[in-house]
Amino acid sequence: MRILIADDDEVSRCKLEALLSKWGYEVISVEDGMLAWEALQQENAPRLTILDWMMPGMDGSEICRQLRQSRKGAYVYVLLLTSKVGKEDIVAGMEAGADDYLGKPFDAQELKVRLRAGKRIVDLEEALRVQATHDALTGAWNHGAIIDMLQMELARAEREGISTGAVLMDLDHFKQVNDTYGHLTGDAVLREAAQRMTRVLRRSDVLGRYGGEEFLVVLPGCEALDAQGLAERLRRCIACDPVATSMGKVSSTISLGVVITGKGERMGVAEVLQRADEALYQAKREGRNRVVVVTGSDLVVVTHGQD
Ligand code: GH3
Ligand code: MG
Ligand code: MG
Repeated sequence: MRILIADDDEVSRCKLEALLSKWGYEVISVEDGMLAWEALQQENAPRLTILDWMMPGMDGSEICRQLRQSRKGAYVYVLLLTSKVGKEDIVAGMEAGADDYLGKPFDAQELKVRLRAGKRIVDLEEALRVQATHDALTGAWNHGAIIDMLQMELARAEREGISTGAVLMDLDHFKQVNDTYGHLTGDAVLREAAQRMTRVLRRSDVLGRYGGEEFLVVLPGCEALDAQGLAERLRRCIACDPVATSMGKVSSTISLGVVITGKGERMGVAEVLQRADEALYQAKREGRNRVVVVTGSDLVVVTHGQD
């Protein structure tokens, strides 16, 4: 696990670095409060940090206060390291938002077990965050999370003058799969469909379970032709091979509605979803197992599924 240490006292900082490395932490170390704050603002910032209370620039308790106010990103566990160990100091540090504190000079064994407790909290928070944002059956993002991502991508595309693609898809005649083979087999088909689609997507694309047997994919910075090609590959990855289940091989297909916004075009989540839904239902009406694409200028392209 990565850990950030901020201490302006070189001797103390070096001692911490040596100990933490020995205990298996990946250490990032800075010598003042501003640098610590900057490191904590980075995407993928360390989740565990040891902050000296008294530092130039921004002191440890101020960093705690700002961290707890910003509520941006994942939770950061803060252990304050301080020579202030009066009761009122401790109360002030914890009130500022620190999770724990340790008096200077510190005892190495005590620091070790306190960090282990911190790591337990960080791991638990991470597990809860995954649970709250992912669908338990397929492992894809859940409805709330994928809609948040679509919203973020639409705003970013508008700001940066690029396009966003969204693909809404629905398994065809899925009720029949349940009716013929049972719900558990239906579940296995949904799981396998999500796995196959994940393998087809680019690293930047995100797959979410929109609900029931419907999935939504967000394609950041995707142009019309790329989106159409990707949707076609998604269609094929399901239609090409039946899913092997405990009840035997189950063939299935999907229908897809694709929307691509114009470059820098302002389009809200509701509008994108409505258009994707219309495109999806056109695909269903025209026989299923096919892709319908709607671009910003309303041009509709239909790709016939011929497997
Ligand atoms: P269409 O091609 O028009 O989409 O037909 P369909 O049968 O797929 O559509 P319909 O909306 O009639 O049925 C969807 C089915 O999906 C019914 C529902 O029980 C099933 N379903 C939704 N969620 C799950 C799930 O988590 N597991 C299983 N096994 N089935 C599910
Ligand atoms: Mg369906
Ligand atoms: Mg459906």
